[in-house]
Formats: sequence, structure tokens, C-alpha cells
Amino acid sequence: MADFGATDTEAFRAEARQWLEANFPPSLKGKGGLMMREERVKPSAEQEAWRKAMGDKGWGVPTWPAAYGGGGLSGAEARVLQQEMGRIGAWNPIGGMGTMMFGPTLLEYGTEEQKLEHIPPICRGELQWCQGFSEPGAGSDLAALSTRAEDKGDHFIINGQKIWTSGAQFADWCFCLVRTDTSKKHEGISFVLFTMHQPGVEVRPIPLIAGNSPFCETFFTDARAEKKNLVGPLNGGWTIAKRLLQHERSGLSGAGGGGMGFGRQTPLPQLAKKYLGEDAQGRIADADLRTRVIQNEMTARAFMQTAMRTAMEAKGNSGPSAATSIMKNAGTRVMQDRAELTLEIMGSQGLGWEGEGFSTEELQAVRGWLGGKATTIYGGSQEVQNNIISKRILGLPDLTQNH
Ligand SMILES: Cc1cc2nc3c(=O)[nH]c(=O)nc-3n(C[C@H](O)[C@H](O)[C@H](O)COP(=O)(O)OP(=O)(O)OC[C@H]3O[C@@H](n4cnc5c(N)ncnc54)[C@H](O)[C@@H]3O)c2cc1C
Repeated sequence: MADFGATDTEAFRAEARQWLEANFPPSLKGKGGLMMREERVKPSAEQEAWRKAMGDKGWGVPTWPAAYGGGGLSGAEARVLQQEMGRIGAWNPIGGMGTMMFGPTLLEYGTEEQKLEHIPPICRGELQWCQGFSEPGAGSDLAALSTRAEDKGDHFIINGQKIWTSGAQFADWCFCLVRTDTSKKHEGISFVLFTMHQPGVEVRPIPLIAGNSPFCETFFTDARAEKKNLVGPLNGGWTIAKRLLQHERSGLSGAGGGGMGFGRQTPLPQLAKKYLGEDAQGRIADADLRTRVIQNEMTARAFMQTAMRTAMEAKGNSGPSAATSIMKNAGTRVMQDRAELTLEIMGSQGLGWEGEGFSTEELQAVRGWLGGKATTIYGGSQEVQNNIISKRILGLPDLTQNH
């Protein structure tokens, strides 16, 4: 199907509009961010119905192959779907690490059996995945990891500790990097999958300043991973891990359509006019803030245009590249600046933690600002991305041992 064909996409637009209007519960309009957090506690009947409808249709992962439960749409159709969802305030109920990073990686490196087993539940939003990469002694220097997997014939026995495991307390499965050869660093790492619902896995949530516990310490004591769930060759996990991190960075930057969600938030100029008023010419009343808001808007738009262009250019290639490090650094910086400006615009109304005196948008502001601090750390810190950019894109001498 042609990716730029307006005729094809217009026919698809009508189909998407009709389906969304028939299936999206209007009461969930514009409530995506909040609902997804609450959903982890207790999804409402309407949330469940919406997840199931999107899952059955495959539109939560619109461009994934239909053979594994994806939508099978072209890039152009997926963009139309996103526009049509935005038009009625609908949001994607299928998300998490399964869709953002693990799924695309398994589609590339998994066996047919692995894809058939693990991809469909991700497409339907039935199972959540967590990422067992970082360890207390292995963050930026990820290949220093020491969690061991011992070969027991048809399975591995895993012992060790992971940290900062986002969503481990809600996860059903873990994609995990384990050491299978202690004599080599990068070439002694394997990529395995196992269920979190087993006696050998212990999860301890870590509270954060933003008022929630999005991640955990995770301990493995004789945890079991079946051999059929080794992805790629034994000791060949590093290549797969690097690929997965590219998908992660692409998703975090917002370049993959998620992450920053510029389109889902009230535009900053509109927000500023609401809180600070307008001057005689209809501009944001505060001249200094106006300049900074416009600078952020221009950078955000330039970023999104670049993201769209690179996505189109990459269509013929095999997927994301080292350029995702540039996009991650640029995208997360725009997002952090936006969070700062939002607080400044809202003033004391932007500092509310809870209570009826604050709107939903106001309550999200300070938590978003605090939570956003982590974006330049996870998925590989800003400094480490700069190292990758200098080494892999600019071809400067390699002065580090990091990925
Ligand atoms: C909110 C959040 C969620 C996370 N979720 C997950 C998850 O789900 N799964 C998972 O496996 N991990 C997760 N992480 C871990 C994340 O990937 C690591 O925090 C990150 O890679 C940095 O590692 P570190 O914290 O050990 O810091 P360190 O590696 O100790 O780095 C400390 C500082 O030194 C700098 N630094 C380190 N090496 C270099 C270098 N060579 N050159 C220049 N500067 C350097 C870093 O930039 C950083 O500023 C999460 C982290 C956060 C904050």
C-alpha cells in the first residue's frame, strides 16, 4: 500500500472515523493519561471494553503485522488513525514496554514460535512486560551486568539483582539481560524472557518524589527461564539489547508518536493566554514569557517535523538507528522545558498536589515536571547519548567503554 497515497488514506479515514465513533466510549474522552495509571488499580467496564475493542482490531499497534495481531496498516494509515483519534479525544489503551520496545525487537529477532506466543497478547494489551536491564553496578555501563543464568538443559536458573525495573510490580513477564559467560564482557550476555509470576522473583517498589512508585528493585533467586525463551543466540544478547534501546529511545523522544505527546496537551500559547491574559494585540500578556513560549513551540514543531521526516526516510531501512540518541536528547529537552514553562504559567495553581481547588490539568503539572526529570536519565542518560552521537554518528574517537 502506498505510504503517501491521499486517495487510499481518505477511504481509510472514513472507515477509521466510523469505527472509532462506534467503539470509543465518549465518557473516556481526553482522559488517557490519568486512566492508564488508574487502570493498573481497577479498570472500569468502559476502559476494559475500549481496550478489548482496540486489541481485537489490532489498532493499538497499527503498523505491526496482522499475522501476529497487529493492525497491518501502512505508516500513512496509522497517521490518519492517530488524527482521527485526536479529533474525538480518543486515546490508545494498548501501551507499555511490550509495544514500545520489546515487541518491535522480538518481531526482528524472535523465532516464529516466540512471535506467535508473545506478540498477540501484547497487541491485545493483555500482558505487561518489564525491562530487566540495569543493575546496581551496571547502569550506563550496562555490559558490566552480573545477574547469572546457569544452563540446566531445557531451562536456565537465574540469580542476581536488577534495579529501576519500571512497572515490575505490575508486570507479567520480564525481558532480561543475563550473564551466560563470565570470561567475556559484551559477548557473555544473553537475552531471555521469563514470567514474573514465579517464586524466584521478588519485587520491591521504590517511592519517587513525584508521588508514585513507578519502579522497583527486583531480586532473582533460582528464577527459571525456559530455553525456548532465549531470544537470539546464547551469548548474543548484546546486539539485541542495543536494538531494543534504540526502540526505547525512539519511543521516549516522542519520535515514535508516543512519549512527549505534544498533540495531547493544551498548546502552551493557549494555556498562557488563559492564565496570564492577552495584550491589546491578542498576544500573551507577559512579553518575556511570550518569547520563551514561542521558542519552545518552534523547537517542538521543528522536532516533530524532523521526527516525521526521519520516520519516512527510515521506511526503506531496517528500523531505528544511532540517530535515536539525537532524537532522545532533543525530545526530552523540549519536554522538560515545556514542563518548566507550564509551572511558570500556572503560578501557584501549578503547584497543587491534590484537592478540589485544582483542575486535572493543574494537578498533572507539578507531577509531570518532577517525573520529567527522569527522562534524561532512563533509556540511557543524556551524557551517554552524547557519547553515542560522537562515536557512532560523528565518528569521533571512542573514549568510553559504554554502549
Ligand atoms: C525513572 C527511571 C526508570 C527506569 N526504568 C528502567 C527499567 O525499566 N529497566 C532498566 O533496566 N533500567 C531502568 N532505568 C535505569 C536507567 O536506564 C539508568 O538509570 C541509566 O542507564 C543510568 O544508569 P545509572 O542510574 O546506574 O547511573 P550511572 O551509570 O551511575 O551514571 C551516573 C552519572 O554519570 C554519568 N555517566 C556515566 N557514564 C558516563 C560516561 N561514560 N560518560 C559521561 N557521563 C557518564 C551519567 O550520565 C549520569 O549522569 C530507569 C531509570 C529511571 C530514572
